[in-house]
Amino acid sequence: LENNNIVVDRTFQTENSRPVPKPVKTFEHAFHNYPEILDEIRKAGFEKPSPIQSQCWPVLLSGEDLIGIAQTGTGKTLGFLLPALIHIDGQTVPREERGGPAVLIMAPTRELALQIDKEVKKYFYRNISSVCVYGGGARKEQIDVVSRGVDIVIATPGRMNDLNQAGHLNVRSVTYVVLDEADRMLDMGFEPQIRKVMYSLRPTKQCIMTSATWPPGVRRLADSYMKDPIQIYVGSLDL
Ligand code: ADP
Ligand code: MG
Repeated sequence: LENNNIVVDRTFQTENSRPVPKPVKTFEHAFHNYPEILDEIRKAGFEKPSPIQSQCWPVLLSGEDLIGIAQTGTGKTLGFLLPALIHIDGQTVPREERGGPAVLIMAPTRELALQIDKEVKKYFYRNISSVCVYGGGARKEQIDVVSRGVDIVIATPGRMNDLNQAGHLNVRSVTYVVLDEADRMLDMGFEPQIRKVMYSLRPTKQCIMTSATWPPGVRRLADSYMKDPIQIYVGSLDL
């Protein structure tokens, strides 16, 4: 996960030009208040944060919107996931009263969604619960789990939109939303479903997007939902 070629900037520069939070050099630096997370990282045997993690953790922990553009295998999953756990931990409203998930992660395929869910369950943290919903999976089971109350929903856009339209999943409670591999989701034709789901969310939320490329379609999506986001490029600026 080495890569020296990293560029960090605020993208849609507004009058509100706050500085970009400084990168962290160590896991302790980012998560000193969360010993359970540090334990899990130690168990995984990771030496140090990947370049994108060291840049994106302080950004996400300070509540900023973020666009992460990097190839697969650069450690983006934990990049958005660990701040998501901390986001949930910081909620003042308990799960039962919230009436829906606090975190929504959309990913292009069932395999990717399941991979993310596996990672969440590894970092099983202060009773944080997650459910993975995807097309082809047992719909009734997914609905049952969701209605019992969860903190994190990981979903493919099609099934997510389907459950949302049918009223099985209240997404007004979501305050941290991730569009993982946005370019692939658009390539697969999920833009209408993504937009319908995003439209159902409350206006004030933290928004994160990852992508391997930065074509106009992804840029437009980012433009519609992100507030003064910080953009992190890892690797070549293949524009
Ligand atoms: P991406 O989403 O960018 O494709 P992943 O999040 O799937 O990448 O991570 C790729 C691999 O790197 C995974 O096996 C993950 O466990 C591992 N990994 C994540 N963070 C680190 C780290 N800081 N050091 C070493 N390996 C890591
Ligand atoms: Mg990934």
